[in-house]
Amino acid sequence: MTVYSGPVFEMAANQFTVIANHLEIPMDERARLLMPKRSVTVSCPIHRDDGTVAVFEGYRVQHHLTMGPTKGGTRFAPSVDIGEVAALAIWMSWKCALVGLPYGGAKGGVNVDVTQISKRELESLSRRYMQEMIPFVGPHTDVMAPDMGTNEQVMAWFMDTYSMYQGQTVTEIVTGKPVSSGGTLGRREATGRGVAYLARRVLKELAINPSGATAVVQGFGNVGSYAALELHHYGLKITAVSDHTGALYDEKGLDIPALMHHAQLHGSIAGFSNELHFDPAEVLTLPCDVLVPAAMERVIDARVAGKLRCRVLAEGANGPTTPEADLVLDKRNEIFLIPDILCNSGGVVVSYFEWVQDLQQLFWEEEEVMRREYQILDRAFETMLKRAKADNISHRTAAMAIGVEKVRAAKNTRGLFP
Ligand code: NAD
Repeated sequence: MTVYSGPVFEMAANQFTVIANHLEIPMDERARLLMPKRSVTVSCPIHRDDGTVAVFEGYRVQHHLTMGPTKGGTRFAPSVDIGEVAALAIWMSWKCALVGLPYGGAKGGVNVDVTQISKRELESLSRRYMQEMIPFVGPHTDVMAPDMGTNEQVMAWFMDTYSMYQGQTVTEIVTGKPVSSGGTLGRREATGRGVAYLARRVLKELAINPSGATAVVQGFGNVGSYAALELHHYGLKITAVSDHTGALYDEKGLDIPALMHHAQLHGSIAGFSNELHFDPAEVLTLPCDVLVPAAMERVIDARVAGKLRCRVLAEGANGPTTPEADLVLDKRNEIFLIPDILCNSGGVVVSYFEWVQDLQQLFWEEEEVMRREYQILDRAFETMLKRAKADNISHRTAAMAIGVEKVRAAKNTRGLFP
């Protein structure tokens, strides 16, 4: 038992054990690699609109500081607990190492249902959370970014709050900010675009023409909506989409630009169409060429994995597939898995570009951002594939093994202080 114990942390720990066994990492090195360096729990009191005071619990977990500052999103969701945040921080570490960024993983979160608070309350909570975190974060210590339930506006409030305390503007304290406040072009779209880019690359490897191929997307927030839009631009038909309010299905292909416009205006896909309603529980198992889970973790368990009818599983969300489901997928060679730490890494890659641009105060064109993002994704994809083939292991094991190996090498070279 640790403070992190819970289903999501157990999942990250189990995945790590598989990798550690594969890499034959000695037992006495494992805890140092797996367990987070530091975790902080804070109480965030705010004034509610009705004059009462409410207190929300917030967390930040920094997994390791071996390769540079830690980096990771901040999640505002009712499911958030310290174990979930720790698991997400660990996955960030393997992800950053896999794609070659000079970061350790971190993650933060507040246990709150953002649909139940007003915009003013959200601003108060965001600012209070950042204010509580000031002693523990910094542009060279820990850099935050958006995740489920947070967005560019929340990042702007984080940056403003930190800057007010420093007495100067410190844009490089968070990434995923609006372009007007030191953000980079292409960050908003980066994660979804990366998911779609890799999915198209795999379709080509499988000799499936993207034009006319089909895709299904679970989650229509930042990652899901931009993944769907980019796949739509590549010529795929998006036959189904779901979010927390329900699902839509159209075998002819949904009008994704119109659906995005609707979701941006109304905050969800609800109300877009009365005729296209579909059972959200059936979305993941619809027949399609590309399936993109882009909502939350642990949605594909062993039962769902046995029923999947996709050719490419492009994991936009973090941890959407359980280790039990992985065992099923290992036997289903007809499904090409693009594991989360590679598939959704476009987000942290472009966050890294944003941090670099903020530090240098030199900003790039969007084409430059995209070119460099795709270059990094291509390199990581090829490395993963080569490793999977060489060691005869799954894509997930290969991707994670590369990440774990790099962190281990850095730790061993630096040694153990004191
Ligand atoms: P978001 O808050 O913008 O969107 C989340 C979406 O999931 C919303 O459309 C919501 O309605 C939907 N959703 C919630 N519960 C659902 C359910 N039960 N069924 C179907 N849909 C549901 O969040 P996001 O930033 O798009 O993040 C989504 C996932 O991608 C998370 O796992 C996150 O950790 C991961 N991720 C995000 C980024 C990023 O840059 N934002 C980067 C890497 C990974």
